[in-house]
Amino acid sequence: MATKKSNTIKLKFDSARNLAPAPESKSAAKIDPQYELFINGKFEKPSGKKYFASINPATEEKLSMIAEANDADVNKAVKAARAAYENVWKKMPGAERAKYIYRIARMIQERAREFAIIETLDGGKPIRESRDFDVPTAANHFFYYAGWADKLEYAFPNRHTSPLGVAGQIIPWNFPLLMAAWKIAPALACGNTVVIKPAENTSLTALKLAEIIQEADLPAGVVNIITGAGATGAAIVNHPDVNKIAFTGSTEVGKIIQRAIAGTNKKATLELGGKAANIIFDDAPIDQAVEGVINGIFFNQGHVCCAGSRLYVQESVFKEVVRKLKDRLESLIVGDPMDKNTDIGAINSKEQLNIINNYIKIGQQEGAEMYQSSASLPKRGFYCRPTIFTNVAQSNRIAQEEIFGPVLAIQSFRTDDEVIEKANNTPYGLSAGVWTDKGSKIFNMTTKLRAGVVWANTFNKFDPTSPFGGYKESGYGREGGVHGLAAYVNIV
Ligand code: NAP
Ligand code: MG
Repeated sequence: MATKKSNTIKLKFDSARNLAPAPESKSAAKIDPQYELFINGKFEKPSGKKYFASINPATEEKLSMIAEANDADVNKAVKAARAAYENVWKKMPGAERAKYIYRIARMIQERAREFAIIETLDGGKPIRESRDFDVPTAANHFFYYAGWADKLEYAFPNRHTSPLGVAGQIIPWNFPLLMAAWKIAPALACGNTVVIKPAENTSLTALKLAEIIQEADLPAGVVNIITGAGATGAAIVNHPDVNKIAFTGSTEVGKIIQRAIAGTNKKATLELGGKAANIIFDDAPIDQAVEGVINGIFFNQGHVCCAGSRLYVQESVFKEVVRKLKDRLESLIVGDPMDKNTDIGAINSKEQLNIINNYIKIGQQEGAEMYQSSASLPKRGFYCRPTIFTNVAQSNRIAQEEIFGPVLAIQSFRTDDEVIEKANNTPYGLSAGVWTDKGSKIFNMTTKLRAGVVWANTFNKFDPTSPFGGYKESGYGREGGVHGLAAYVNIV
């Protein structure tokens, strides 16, 4: 019976691969040949006159030239943010700040299509994801925090809050617009001003957001968006007049930042790497769990800090789960991110593709058994077939280290205690997933798994009202929800 069912599903999926292309049109998005720095409400040329290229990882074509901010530009941006903070923003009643934040949210919605197209062209993620997830969730963050701006006294009852001042914010390339929203919205709601740097590979939607911020008439200097590579980020971190650092990125750079701000009175929130465990118990709804695991690791090409990159399956259902995963892998459409049928788009950069391919090699050398989908890949651009490994040992590097790509390491387990120990046995602790029919098991797991987020019978669900953040080397501090406000205020 079970075999019959899976055959039917497979047939349906096989025909999905043969769908006619349904490409989104590029014409709804305008990308300028060159972008400047957004400082004090205006677009300004970088003082070092240097620019770098942003490419489309799906085609390797150049999209635009982006300004590189040096120390002098960072200093200018921090000065503008300080002046805006002292003269305008910290004095403005919360209800007035809320109107601006709300306006930004509305304008993102109005230009949602353009944002989605640019996000996909610049970063390689499938248009379906940027359209249905990144852009609406970014708008929702602005809406949500607009609502808090005049209610901080309710967020922290019987306490007095004050803004921190100038927030320096540094974000990665996996969710460029969404990460900008996560950072900017709560900072503004709490009365802080901002200097933010997107990742050099994916600056375009942040610069489009700068256009919106300008059109929204946000007072000059409240948000400054400056582009550049790691050195620009370091200049923000080391600037003496920055009061808070909010960083999302690798654990490696997170540690550099921690060292740099030690001994200063800069506050920090760090959202770092992850190696999440998805756990399937034998009483779980297996088809639903398989779909959740696929979503958990292959969503956004596995470029997700909380991706379910490890899978633990209870022994009695191990074979069934692996067989169904392989069937489903075959049906995934890998290719042009602009095609609305695509499930897995382009890897964000050549460097990242090399890192992933190297881990795939390491997995094989470590003796794990590899299975890859047989999807054919486009000739140009950076692509990786969805890959799963079985016969994995807990000590294998593919089970311990963050790969940040579409690679899943699968192990079996027998008892609850065994899987809790294995799941917790990494340096990270950002997220986890539990698949079971029993509520009691879910509660047992959520209290024992050392992870900031534990999803039950679902995975990778986000909402502006829920806090997000990690344990151990996954960082500290929370973003989202009321908790996200606490990171941007002094509380007495
Ligand atoms: P990354 O190399 O750490 O870069 C993150 C940001 O920091 C980029 O804007 C980068 O600039 C900048 N940067 C690099 N060196 C710096 C320095 N010395 N000082 C200050 N800033 C510096 O990380 P990534 O490769 O872009 O992103 C992937 C990582 O982010 C993964 O480890 C993932 O787990 C993590 N992540 C975590 C979360 C979370 O919420 N926990 C969310 C998303 C991603 P350039 O890129 O321009 O060099
Ligand atoms: Mg790019």
